[in-house]
Amino acid sequence: MQIQIQPTSSSRIDQVDFDNLTFGRSFADHMLVAEYADGAWQSVTIQPYGPLAYQPAMMSLHYGQSIFEGMKGYRSVSGDIQVFRPEENLKRFNKSALRMCMPEVPKEIFLDGLRTLLKLDQAWVPAKEGCSLYIRPFMFATDEYVGVTPSNTYKFIIFNCPVGSYYTKPLRVRVETEFIRAAKGGVGFAKNAGNYGGSLFPTQNAIKDGYDQIIWTDAATHQFVEEAGTMNLMFVVNGSLVTAPTGDTILDGVTRKSVLQIAKDWGMDVQERPLSIKELIQGIQSGVVTEAFGAGTAAVIAPIATIGFEGIDYHLPARKDDDFSVKVYNEINQIRLGQIPDARGWIWKV
Ligand SMILES: *Cc1c(COP(=O)(O)O)cnc(C)c1O
Repeated sequence: MQIQIQPTSSSRIDQVDFDNLTFGRSFADHMLVAEYADGAWQSVTIQPYGPLAYQPAMMSLHYGQSIFEGMKGYRSVSGDIQVFRPEENLKRFNKSALRMCMPEVPKEIFLDGLRTLLKLDQAWVPAKEGCSLYIRPFMFATDEYVGVTPSNTYKFIIFNCPVGSYYTKPLRVRVETEFIRAAKGGVGFAKNAGNYGGSLFPTQNAIKDGYDQIIWTDAATHQFVEEAGTMNLMFVVNGSLVTAPTGDTILDGVTRKSVLQIAKDWGMDVQERPLSIKELIQGIQSGVVTEAFGAGTAAVIAPIATIGFEGIDYHLPARKDDDFSVKVYNEINQIRLGQIPDARGWIWKV
């Protein structure tokens, strides 16, 4: 498919303070916009990032046909621009699309389009240690129609944000036993907008009570660990790496998948199995749970210091340099930056 390029006449890059980037507030000069109608992708354009005009009856605003992805691009030690496993994001995007009755986006638009976009905006990929370009592909229904049915027209867009290093101090998280994120048969495995809308209220309650995030539990019994806001959760229990199995309530994270692969390559026992809150709390108390962390694109690894459950805070041991979560973070970070060989074929060069 021919990509039409309409370059900006005035770059905004000089207005951005690359030494003080906050997450998701600066936008690179260009975006890719693809239009779907009459059962096919009609056009792909790269144009200046800017406002789009829509009708108040645009269907995605009313009925939630809206999905997204998140991945990161880096400037490698040799100066090349490279992205971490974007083929995985494309696969997941198309799974989300299927669940939401939206058209698949072909790799010629998603990946080849991304390559063209990143070439044009390569100056926006920060070179500074710890910084990266956050890449946000998304798709939404654009029919002007008031009726609950799949839209006939869609837009697929990719825009990019230069972002600073995402240091998270060890998190305080609370086990959520009233609200749910996803139920069996639902849309929890899809990165669709509504999942995040529904998470705001319970998360806000936890923040009011002094926590950073919540641990979602299973919808049916509230007894098993599912995941956190935009991260999968992992625990080191008796030296084994334990995480919830993917299914229709868990988002199949690319970071999760990568961490599990590295653990296996290092000869660590990996268990994808339900972990009950009871086992978790007892394990923290007895000392067999030695690490707890979130895994997701934004932070890669977000260590958890404290888990609140039924009004009591349980504390994980202080982090040590030879913790699995520290070592696996370093491994992924070095692969992303091209500091060590990419033995698993995870790097996609622009
Ligand atoms: C995006 C996301 C993740 C993490 O996925 P990555 O591909 O590792 O970024 C985990 N859980 C939820 C709910 C998410 O939306």
